[in-house]
Amino acid sequence: MKIQRKKVAIIGAGNVGAGVLFSLLNSQSIAELVIIDINEKKAYGEALDAFHSTALAYSPNINVHSGDYSECQDAEIIIITAGATATPDKVVDRTALTGVNLKIISDIMNNIKKYTTDAIIIMVSNPVDILTYYAQNYFDYDSDKIIGTGTLLDTARYRRILSLKCMVDAKNVHGYILGEHGKTAFATWSGTNIAGIPIDEYLEEPINHEDVIEEVVLSGYDVLKNKGYTNFGIAKSVDRLVRALLANELSILPISTTLKGEYGINDVALSLPCVISNTGVKRILEIPLTEDEKSKLHASANYLKAIIAEFINI
Ligand code: NAD
Repeated sequence: MKIQRKKVAIIGAGNVGAGVLFSLLNSQSIAELVIIDINEKKAYGEALDAFHSTALAYSPNINVHSGDYSECQDAEIIIITAGATATPDKVVDRTALTGVNLKIISDIMNNIKKYTTDAIIIMVSNPVDILTYYAQNYFDYDSDKIIGTGTLLDTARYRRILSLKCMVDAKNVHGYILGEHGKTAFATWSGTNIAGIPIDEYLEEPINHEDVIEEVVLSGYDVLKNKGYTNFGIAKSVDRLVRALLANELSILPISTTLKGEYGINDVALSLPCVISNTGVKRILEIPLTEDEKSKLHASANYLKAIIAEFINI
């Protein structure tokens, strides 16, 4: 069977956009990568730098270039990384970016829609749950085709932290961070396991659950304060999602999408484990949660709903 290689567009050529671009350069499934930014010079420079690397052995021969929104016309996937961000001298909660980034997302969604309503859109910009909700519900674009990276990165951080305590490969730590990509995120301790063994049974020394979730939530800020920005973790999270989409993997990943009654929650986007196919979000899973975990999920939903009410549904 002939495998058709695809075109992917990245909107936003900042630290995250450049990280995503660099990560996707290793993809054997991608034929063309385009990067778009209001700062055309930055997009051009990032694309040129990346394009040079494709001449080296073991690098797929991808056509990398910068461009404008007309490039979205034949893109299979569009990744939105544009917008304001927290900085080390201005460490703010992600939700503080809501006002300014809603305007940017409105501009970007209207530009994308001039050229396509077929592409899968991956939302990365923060606050990712609010922007995903906005893009899914206000632009007459098939909502299953819009995916927020949500707690995919937080879940990677959770597995990494627990793997060091368990002394096993992080990929063998099964469990999720769900809810908001932010301070109300929570861990699914009841389902977290190593080879089916509940995490608390596997560990020789008991761990404080609250300490672990705090470390997960604050670790992004730890990177930000020390390095100046975060990009590797999120770039690999996007790469993981792109692979699942392009290969129709039917992988289950914790991503942000507008809930449709799961756990009695509607009209807010947050992360639950979802089956990802080549058409986007195929199924939102209601995994077993304890009463405490369910109440944390509802608290996360209520927190996000208050922001939606303040900035969007006014
Ligand atoms: P950055 O400041 O380095 O880059 C932002 C880029 O967006 C700039 O190049 C800017 O020119 C561009 N831009 C601004 N408005 C635009 C518009 N209307 N159209 C096109 N381009 C536009 O920021 P960054 O570090 O790359 O972060 C980008 C976003 O990603 C932020 O919102 C940040 O909070 C978010 N982020 C999300 C996660 C996650 O887990 N979801 C992780 C890290 C960063």
